[in-house]
Amino acid sequence: MEFNKPNIFISKCIEQDHCRYDGSMITSEFVKTLEPYVNYVYSCPEMEIGLPSPREALRIIVEDGEERIVSSKSGKDVTEDMVTYSENKADELKNENLDGFILKGRSPSCGVKDVKMYKSFGKSQIIPKKTSGVFGGIIDDKFSMLPIEDEGRLTNFSIREHFYTRIFTTARFKSIKKNMKMGHLVKFHSDNKYLFMAYNQGRLKTLGKIVANHEKKKVEDVYKEYELELLELLKTPTSSKRKMNVALHILGYFSNDLSSKEKAYFLDLLQQYMDSQIPFSNLASVLEMWAIRFEIDYLNTQSIFNPFPKDLIKVTDSGKGL
Ligand code: SF4
Repeated sequence: MEFNKPNIFISKCIEQDHCRYDGSMITSEFVKTLEPYVNYVYSCPEMEIGLPSPREALRIIVEDGEERIVSSKSGKDVTEDMVTYSENKADELKNENLDGFILKGRSPSCGVKDVKMYKSFGKSQIIPKKTSGVFGGIIDDKFSMLPIEDEGRLTNFSIREHFYTRIFTTARFKSIKKNMKMGHLVKFHSDNKYLFMAYNQGRLKTLGKIVANHEKKKVEDVYKEYELELLELLKTPTSSKRKMNVALHILGYFSNDLSSKEKAYFLDLLQQYMDSQIPFSNLASVLEMWAIRFEIDYLNTQSIFNPFPKDLIKVTDSGKGL
């Protein structure tokens, strides 16, 4: 299966450059593994506003009820510079056709959430409440329909699987959107039927109605409506239970042709999946193999078997947080 390359914005200090406050770079196994399959767009907001590396670490403080971003020792306030940069950068990124963001977690600039707040600079108490970084918060506001994750959360397999599914599905949608052909949209919808069923059955039906286009709307309007609904559908992660139901649904295609031992083997795998002992991809491989053996062409193109490149499922992921 061929995949379109998603465009991903990434904080520059993650595997791209030694631009952190202490001159270091964050290493990330999955960011390196993902690199050949995506186009990374990156920047370092702190260096873009003119700070050097190494530099004094920044922190968020609350002053007169307002969050400010300041140097942690000297207290130099860079809030205005950071807000202006972040707003301009967010506008610029609207032209990059992005499919998602990987931001540095807990950073007062890039963090999306879980950023500590202090009462002041220097030796100061932490406020028992978390916030977002200045750049991360503005990105979160302006790109609320796209997946925005921090690199820490993405070390969890199920969060990463959901992120990959979203970015590769939207990248494929955008590739067909370039030509705006109704036939391409029908095929896209059909190939994703079981994946979408696992995400949200109600929204799958809505997408089906949009594609059926009984109102004879213009193709551009159909694509626009479909895209909005698709992004909504992909927002909320699926669950093991929903995936299990879809797996059983697909099993129905060949259950009359399978031996009782084959069925028992599959149901045992299903139980292992539900017990978080194996990833869904193990079940998908067996179903995919039966779809080939029984020549059920409709199933052979279903994205639920491979929602993203297989190489991204590393052996070390198996069984983690499924
Ligand atoms: S977290 Fe953001 S601002 Fe801080 S070093 Fe990384 S890219 Fe730069």
